[in-house]
Amino acid sequence: MNELRHVARWGDPADAVTLSPGVRDLLGSALGVRGPRPAAETADLHPSSLPPAALADLVTACPRVHTDDAARLAHAAGKSTEDLLRLRAGQVHDAPDAVARPGSHDEVAALLAACARQHVAVVPFGGGTSVVGGLAARRDGFAGLLALDLAGLDRLIRVDPVSRTATAQAGLRAPRAERLLNAQGYTLGHFPQSFEYASLGGFAATRSSGQASAGYGRFDRMVVGLKAATPVGTVDLGRAPESAAGPDLRQLLLGSEGVFGVITELTMRVRPTPAERHYTGWVFPDFATGGDAVRSLAQDGPLPTVLRLSDEAETAINAATGSGPGGDGGCLAVVGVEGTKAEVAARSEALHARLTALGGTPLGETAGEQWRAGRYRAPYLRDALLDAGALAETLETATFWDRLPQTYAAVREALVATLADAGTPPLVLCHISHVYDTGASLYFTVVAAQADDPVAQWRAAKTAAGEAIAASGATITHHHGVGRDHRPWYGREIGPVGAAALRGVKEALDPYGILNPGILLP
Ligand SMILES: Cc1cc2nc3c(=O)[nH]c(=O)nc-3n(C[C@H](O)[C@H](O)[C@H](O)COP(=O)(O)OP(=O)(O)OC[C@H]3O[C@@H](n4cnc5c(N)ncnc54)[C@H](O)[C@@H]3O)c2cc1C
Repeated sequence: MNELRHVARWGDPADAVTLSPGVRDLLGSALGVRGPRPAAETADLHPSSLPPAALADLVTACPRVHTDDAARLAHAAGKSTEDLLRLRAGQVHDAPDAVARPGSHDEVAALLAACARQHVAVVPFGGGTSVVGGLAARRDGFAGLLALDLAGLDRLIRVDPVSRTATAQAGLRAPRAERLLNAQGYTLGHFPQSFEYASLGGFAATRSSGQASAGYGRFDRMVVGLKAATPVGTVDLGRAPESAAGPDLRQLLLGSEGVFGVITELTMRVRPTPAERHYTGWVFPDFATGGDAVRSLAQDGPLPTVLRLSDEAETAINAATGSGPGGDGGCLAVVGVEGTKAEVAARSEALHARLTALGGTPLGETAGEQWRAGRYRAPYLRDALLDAGALAETLETATFWDRLPQTYAAVREALVATLADAGTPPLVLCHISHVYDTGASLYFTVVAAQADDPVAQWRAAKTAAGEAIAASGATITHHHGVGRDHRPWYGREIGPVGAAALRGVKEALDPYGILNPGILLP
């Protein structure tokens, strides 16, 4: 089944990555990868179980409701490695019974009202790039499960050049949003690795963070206003950039992962499109020295637009596989500056002096540009690794600077120990991916040989890593969100009183409990 092959991968097949014979040999000799596993030809898609009366009610709310296999399959999962492994095995238990494609806020609201009447569970679907099971809502106890695909809400509504804000519909995908804004001289500056497919509403619903977060900030900090449809009515928030009028209700919707309402419109701060970009590579003798340098920039400046630091293992593997510069040891930092010509010149010069004083050695622009050119390549590489019989997945966390070394060591040890116990000594790579004056995010990549049950293998490793993160005092997620996979740890982070407060909000906004059951809420 072609659709199955397509949904079980990332992106356009024309951009697929092929592993070189050298890398294949290395996977076999260093990691014990045993070669490709058979992929299923067909999916175990259950027949749509929506009662005819419920379907008719949904169609009255929005005529574009589809129950064909192709539409349901395309909305059956997100893009975590577990999702891709299950899809490759033909397992699509989480597939919705129907897919609705509303074209307006009012249609979204009407669909939610119909779902409430018919007791149909709803999964808001943006770009479908969740890596935490955020699209795997529970269906038990409901008359059916509806994927509410927001791709039809794809308009840039207005740009306000005086306030420097842009208002857009939430289903707008990131590349198109950037193109439309660029045409008017602006950028959002939000470039996560999932940029090619993710939507603005998805960014808001998961508190996403992009690769240029040092300069442009996290997505939730860009949002100044939002509109959401809930089963009990509409909320329209953000009449001023900041306000002292009580708790900021925008924050309740940001990161709410579709459990409180469906975000249909966002007003975001935008910046002028940078006239100039200057990306350079730097090498530090080790992760500790590089980490101190990165912290120094985050706390005392000058702060670049992009700032990331790979550990020794990530630097070495990227150099060996041609994905990055280096090769003589040490740790690679990528330092990118964007802005006007004068700003970029001044900041680059100041950064050069500061990074040199902090122990860095410049590798020049080619190294920085090499990273920029390949920055959306990792998910294509993951497909090639899965094809070859390797397990490849990432996870992330954030903590305060004083605890960062402990978290780094604890997560690495947990991953290595769990996967080696299963007979597959893994590669564990890490980089500092987002920085703040008080702390940073660590992003881990794991590559190992696939065991007979790779889903169970990764779950065990991920559980061990989650426990190590919790024990070291870090958060279970800095930017991927909670979804289904991080719920137990999220519950522990916010405690019983926090969980009760969220349940109270849920009761007020979604008393029927139809929005994303089983997601986020502990
Ligand atoms: C290869 C890869 C790389 C990634 N890199 C990054 C990265 O660099 N930074 C980062 O932050 N994340 C990253 N992610 C995670 C993911 O892309 C983000 O979480 C993104 O914000 C999800 O957007 P989406 O539109 O695809 O949302 P979806 O996956 O469609 O949905 C995510 C969750 O939000 C809910 N939701 C979606 N839209 C709405 C809406 N309009 N209203 C209410 N709820 C909604 C969904 O029900 C779901 O629970 C990556 C994922 C992949 C696969």
